[in-house]
Amino acid sequence: MLEGLMMDYQLTLDKIIEHARRNFPNKKVITKLPDGSMHELSYREMHSRIKRLSSAMCDKLGVEIGDRVGTFAWNNHQHMELYFAIPGAGAVCHTLNIRLSPEQLTYIVDHAEDQVVFIDGTLLPLYEKLAPNRPSVKYHVIFNVDKDVETSLDNVVFYEDLIAEGDEAFAWRNTDEQMASGLCYTSGTTGNPKGALYSNRSTYMHSLGVLQGNSMALCEKDTVLAVVPQFHAMSWGLPYAAVYCGANLLMPGQFLQAEPLAEMIEQYGVTVAAGVPTIWNGLYHELKNNPRDISTIRALVVGGSAMPRALTVAYEKELGVDVLHAWGMTEMSPLGTVCVLQSHHIDLSDEEKWDVKATQGYGISGVEMRIMDEEGNELPWDGQTMGELQVRGPWVVRQYFRLEKSESHFTADGWFRTGDVSTISEDGYMRITDRTKDLIKSGGEWISSVDIENTLVGHPKVMEAAVFAVPDPRWSERPWAGITFVPGETADKDELNGYLATQGFVKFWWPDNYIAIDELPKTSTGKLDKKVLRAQYGQ
Ligand code: AMP
Repeated sequence: MLEGLMMDYQLTLDKIIEHARRNFPNKKVITKLPDGSMHELSYREMHSRIKRLSSAMCDKLGVEIGDRVGTFAWNNHQHMELYFAIPGAGAVCHTLNIRLSPEQLTYIVDHAEDQVVFIDGTLLPLYEKLAPNRPSVKYHVIFNVDKDVETSLDNVVFYEDLIAEGDEAFAWRNTDEQMASGLCYTSGTTGNPKGALYSNRSTYMHSLGVLQGNSMALCEKDTVLAVVPQFHAMSWGLPYAAVYCGANLLMPGQFLQAEPLAEMIEQYGVTVAAGVPTIWNGLYHELKNNPRDISTIRALVVGGSAMPRALTVAYEKELGVDVLHAWGMTEMSPLGTVCVLQSHHIDLSDEEKWDVKATQGYGISGVEMRIMDEEGNELPWDGQTMGELQVRGPWVVRQYFRLEKSESHFTADGWFRTGDVSTISEDGYMRITDRTKDLIKSGGEWISSVDIENTLVGHPKVMEAAVFAVPDPRWSERPWAGITFVPGETADKDELNGYLATQGFVKFWWPDNYIAIDELPKTSTGKLDKKVLRAQYGQ
């Protein structure tokens, strides 16, 4: 073999913050602090604080290479600093999902053996609910809190004290791109949560993936609002990508309600905002009641669950905001596909474009996809045939952290089984039709719960819909629907099924029963939790 003669340049995360310090010293992370005021931190100043934090972590807290260091925090500048300082110290930034139960969190901290946990003071009471003082945790470092705070935790250190003690001349310790840099546990609808352990290299490559023109195309001119939490799939990689390209990054702290989000978007002229459909649904209804100008947004990035077509239409038609539908998974760092239109779509009508935008889009460069049948045969990309979606690429996990590699997640020929069922069109547009476990099989035929839900939310009286399988003696399973109505509205089965009929749904897909529910059950990452509905109504 003739080897290439290129530099041995390690793809490590320190390169990202160093690049920002040199090229975009005055661009900023802007945080809404717990008291509601806005805090601005330039990348130059952030770089200096990160260096001191990394140094103090090593020298004062004894963090060693490969140690897991937990974070329990909202999106804010401290969490941003930790995203760089922990890998910079050679350790692994383990983001704890604050929405998990205390039992799950206790399991996760113990399983990861976190050595230090950084805690947002606003979340201290929540963190204290974990089984107290986990054996692996040597220090609890707290920020956003007064020094006289009372806590049941041992070995408490104050964040700003730590930074003050650090040395800015510290030499980064993440010298090898294969060193682990981040750890996220998936919410796990069955069994214990499972950890995806990222490397410096995979996260670096993923950041370039977020920046691609066919992806979110972030650039220096952008002001990015990261609504998706830093504790959920690394905030979809935005923290690293935004810093790398010199965009301003707006962090909402705990203010995730529609009103403060609308205010921030208008005040800062946000150009890219990323969050799950529930957030954008809430924002849309808020703007109906209290109009504000959010037309600076060039990309409303939405993922985590399917973006209902009707909501995309509402944003594009009524608010002048382009929607960018994306799909990914914690196991994929998380970005997989983004729905950017291709040149051959230019002459389509708006309605036809929205049909395309309702799909999850095509794989960004670096992500390979295939769909498979139950016997392991590859299925055609014809936009019709449904199969299990499998992926591979430089930012996809090859194994879960501290778990045996199992065939239920990884194929023998090196692909990751997503557990999603999808079609793929001949030009690569992937459309999720369901999670394997949420598909409904009625009389031997598959029914896509997601398709019905996405259509039902287009009905003017419906706010949210969750369609789930209920056992049926005759058909084996039948669809039922839980509905949250727009305040003051209601509709019966005939009206809703009549609506499905007008949208082209055949009769056997119509739900047998509709249940009005004030608030649909959601998982810790804001996805509909259908197993709760199945358990409640499945009898
Ligand atoms: P998580 O690892 O918590 O981000 O969950 C990943 C799962 O969320 C995927 O396997 C999909 O089932 C679902 N998901 C993510 N994005 C989308 C999307 N745009 N449309 C439909 N489902 C999605």
